[in-house]
Amino acid sequence: MVKKLFWPLVLLSLLITITIGYFAPISANAAARTAAVISPASDAWRAALPLDPSAATEAYMQRISPINKARSDAYFEGGYWLLLANTLLGIAACWIILQSGILIRIRNKAEKITRFKFLQTFAISSGFVFFLSLLSFPLTAYQSFFREHQYGLSNQSFPAWLIEQAISNTISIISMGLFFTLIYLFIQKAPRTWWAYGSVLSIGLLSVMMLLGPIYIDPLFNKYQPLTDQKIKEPILSIARANGVPTDNVYQFDASKQSNRISANVSGIFGSAAIRLNDNLLHRSSLPEIEAVMGHEIGHYVLNHAYTMLINISLVLLFGFIFIHKSMGISIKYWGAQHEIKKPSDPISLPLFSAFLSIYFFLMTPVQNSIIRTAEVEADAFGINTARQADGMAEVNLKLTEYRKSNPSDLEEFFFFDHPSPKKRIYAAMRWKAENLK
Ligand SMILES: [Zn+2]
Repeated sequence: MVKKLFWPLVLLSLLITITIGYFAPISANAAARTAAVISPASDAWRAALPLDPSAATEAYMQRISPINKARSDAYFEGGYWLLLANTLLGIAACWIILQSGILIRIRNKAEKITRFKFLQTFAISSGFVFFLSLLSFPLTAYQSFFREHQYGLSNQSFPAWLIEQAISNTISIISMGLFFTLIYLFIQKAPRTWWAYGSVLSIGLLSVMMLLGPIYIDPLFNKYQPLTDQKIKEPILSIARANGVPTDNVYQFDASKQSNRISANVSGIFGSAAIRLNDNLLHRSSLPEIEAVMGHEIGHYVLNHAYTMLINISLVLLFGFIFIHKSMGISIKYWGAQHEIKKPSDPISLPLFSAFLSIYFFLMTPVQNSIIRTAEVEADAFGINTARQADGMAEVNLKLTEYRKSNPSDLEEFFFFDHPSPKKRIYAAMRWKAENLK
């Protein structure tokens, strides 16, 4: 049944995607909409704030109007359901690919074209990633195009969005194809202990991506150029020098073509460093706000968060691979024969591998979020101590409430937040201010 319906399903998926794009409520002036979210305040207002951290935090929170709070809460809470929807759709897509037998057909073709096992496995793996992204395309379109416009958070036209999707999908088809190929190579060579090698492999591949990403991948989406405004560049470099970051240049990039979200990063591993901030941060924020953000980003670099993150991710993956190892063994025993899968090392079992991986990552959401959130708290503490811009930090966090729920419950934050909530970050800034002005 699914065998016959596979191509119509792929076509239907593309049609739904185009329909979603066509009927999206294009927000013509996202800039104007998001700018109106927070009521502005003057230096005099900030100077008159109470020194008590709780009272000062409350004064900041009062500047978010009830309508806008309701809107960003709805946007952020919708994300919780999207997490579940993505997992369920991913599993359904894996099931369709498995039932369709398309990977068996790819394998048969590949065996005719090449006798190299590696290339045959790569054909199956990249083919799998290709069909998986096609079948999940409608939800991707809804989530990252339709919905972003619905909430006035995107500046992109549908064709521009489609082009970016084509680029990022091509990158993931190649990189994930390669990743799965190597994993299956390990499963074939070490059927009982592949999960250990697999997690080490993940560190290697992620390091390569972190090294090459800023140089070769990021410029495919945005234009990077040296920041020319000395009034902004010099204070940023001063924070960098004070903390021994090995760079003498700052770059800006045109993120405003995608959205109005403010963002920055200090990228680079193995002794390289590049300080980069987007044009939204430059145009929408004051110098104290920019300094607060850059202090935070420099904190990530100085505290070696890239390395601790690599180790943490590989640990999470290690347990994930053990989970997959056990589940694959059981499921192939029961359903392997009907799908021509003889053993877990057969690459046509990839839909099973991927389905178990997404179940695992779904269950690990709070763990992953907590790992990242912990690093974010550290970077916040580092940033405020080096940039010394408590009110700048608070103002920036008010801007982040455009798309982040401002005051969630502790449990909600534990499960769904990969950054501390804006209210907690504002409170931390006000606490620093109170202690340092004593
Ligand atoms: Zn951060």
